[in-house]
Amino acid sequence: ATPGIAEVRVAQTSERVGRRLIAVASGKGGVGKSTVAANLAIALARAGRRVGLIDADIYGPSQPKLLAVEGTRPEAREKQLLPVETPYGVPLLSMGQLVPAGQAIAWRGPMAGGALTQLAEADWGLHDTLVVDLPPGTGDVQLTMIQKHKPAGAVIVSTPQDLALIDATRAIDLFAKAEVPVIGLVENMSGYVCPHCGEASEPFGQGGAEAAAAKLGIPFLGRIPLAMAVRQASDAGTPPAAGNGPEATAFHQIAASVGE
Ligand code: ADP
Repeated sequence: ATPGIAEVRVAQTSERVGRRLIAVASGKGGVGKSTVAANLAIALARAGRRVGLIDADIYGPSQPKLLAVEGTRPEAREKQLLPVETPYGVPLLSMGQLVPAGQAIAWRGPMAGGALTQLAEADWGLHDTLVVDLPPGTGDVQLTMIQKHKPAGAVIVSTPQDLALIDATRAIDLFAKAEVPVIGLVENMSGYVCPHCGEASEPFGQGGAEAAAAKLGIPFLGRIPLAMAVRQASDAGTPPAAGNGPEATAFHQIAASVGE
């Protein structure tokens, strides 16, 4: 049978583009995985990549807020979702956009996996790199990601704290077993400089992630300081990597090693 125009177009696009998925994962929640995913995507886009962002964090989809498109719903064309344009040159699709605003996502495993597939197989056009903000831990969305969408690599985010690192090790193990290359470990919330007196302190300890990366034989990609500016910019929908502040540099350095 002759394929319809839509099928030909989709086939040509995916063949020509050869899209790579970069998974951003963490062992537990609240370590800054979404913050790193958003800023990594923006930094890669600023380095000239055609990057899209998938927010697959069913427990707390925060990317629409981080990228200042809260409340915008994606349209669909020929049964494919159209990513939502953001002010930062990184189009976005989020699990949060598939349910009514403010409603909890109480999906069973297969549904959550299916939703990820819908986002990954959306009409990404010529965007060749998709950064995927995964839920924390090692659940159904991760399995669908690994089994069905074969990510090109995974970036693991952890705080320097022991507890977060033990969980991070589990996440690393999941990717390693599935032969997904672990691109490396990012240490977030690493060190705090008091904005008033300038004194540096280490609320979550120091160097834990770098030591863990060395022990596990995976690259250490760098540290992001715990900084009021990061939290404020994130809440305001103006991700630090889109600006020129000192916090932007750390994200751009991490993007440089991810982009290699
Ligand atoms: P996760 O995706 O791991 O649950 P988030 O990225 O949502 O974590 O971050 C949790 C909270 O911590 C958010 O309020 C975020 O703005 C804040 N945060 C993340 N990284 C930093 C940082 N380096 N400095 C200050 N606040 C941060």
